Amino acid sequence: MTIPRRILLNPGPVTTTIAVKQALMVPDICHREREFTDLIKTVRRDLLKVVCVGEDQYTAIPFCASGTGAIEACISSVVAPHQKLGVIQNGTYAQRITAIAERYHIPVVNIVFTFDEPLVKEVIESVLMKDPDIHYVALVHHETSSGVLNPLTEIGLICRRLQRCFIVDAMSSYAGVDIDMSRDSVDFLTASANKCLQGMPGVSFVLAHRARLLAVKDFARSFYFDIYQQYSSLETTGEMPFTPPVQIMYALRCALDEYFTETSEARRQRYRRNYICLVAGLQQLGFMCVTPPALQSGLLVVVRFPVQREQDEFDFDALHDYLYRKGYTIYPKKLPIPDTFRLSCMGDLTEKDIQGFLRVLKQYMISRRRMKNHVT
Ligand SMILES: *Cc1c(COP(=O)(O)O)cnc(C)c1O
Repeated sequence: MTIPRRILLNPGPVTTTIAVKQALMVPDICHREREFTDLIKTVRRDLLKVVCVGEDQYTAIPFCASGTGAIEACISSVVAPHQKLGVIQNGTYAQRITAIAERYHIPVVNIVFTFDEPLVKEVIESVLMKDPDIHYVALVHHETSSGVLNPLTEIGLICRRLQRCFIVDAMSSYAGVDIDMSRDSVDFLTASANKCLQGMPGVSFVLAHRARLLAVKDFARSFYFDIYQQYSSLETTGEMPFTPPVQIMYALRCALDEYFTETSEARRQRYRRNYICLVAGLQQLGFMCVTPPALQSGLLVVVRFPVQREQDEFDFDALHDYLYRKGYTIYPKKLPIPDTFRLSCMGDLTEKDIQGFLRVLKQYMISRRRMKNHVT
């Protein structure tokens, strides 16, 4: 059986390799079998390796959920009663963290910046120093709404110095950007299988500093998404307490193998090359990059469609449908800026794929111009 290859330029789920797709085809197996618990064991160990830490001090807790599930598990499990969560805000995904916390009646202090200015460390520091009840600080490492990469190591240092618990949503940077949980003072990190790790959607994880995790043992507000209970079951029985997405786990095992074979460095460079190729091509076609060059992650760019005249409206759906018919998937905007959309370089893509995309985009621009000229 051959599976057609699609080029996904949306930030997850991403284009996967044939091997990862084929890894889903395994004989039916019960998740309580030794073969499967052995698999979970190596997956948990290797998820930590991606962020340069080991099982002596850290632990990986997988959940059957999309990425937001891991964030919800983390936020609802770790914040002590009557303490506050500080959320560094410069995009839509940070707003989601606040929304989750508020749903659980966790007091939130938003530390707000705009997406196109660098985070001001002094501001963050002074907010934290003035309010010792903000015992937890949450940061989105890569804001997938804008393509801005936030300074993880520096914010980690502030948290370490002020002795705050540091929670990081690394969903779209994990396995695509250099992260060292220990160096960066990250206590809890959330990520998922289907972004830079190039696995299948359906499983996400909380990576936790063990000592910090033990300290939050009794704080969970949710039953299913109780990170300590999940951890405890994994440690004592080797099993996930509730039926995991078995086949997705086999695909994740395969994706991890591919990650270590490619090497973290080579993957980053491949993404980087794709990004440079993409941005250069877009600029040639007259697109403007909204993501500030000094803050960009190199994983995703927000671009503005070149609109020349008032009546020359940008029609995202028309562009999307044209590209989709040719095998390319693009993603709508999240920032409230007109005529924009997002393109990601995550996934099993090469420069050839990006060049192919740019060719089809050019064709669209030409055909569109012809049509407009015809109409007027
Ligand atoms: C993808 C993503 C999420 C999770 O989205 P899901 O659709 O739940 O997988 C969360 N935060 C960031 C920064 C993301 O990029």
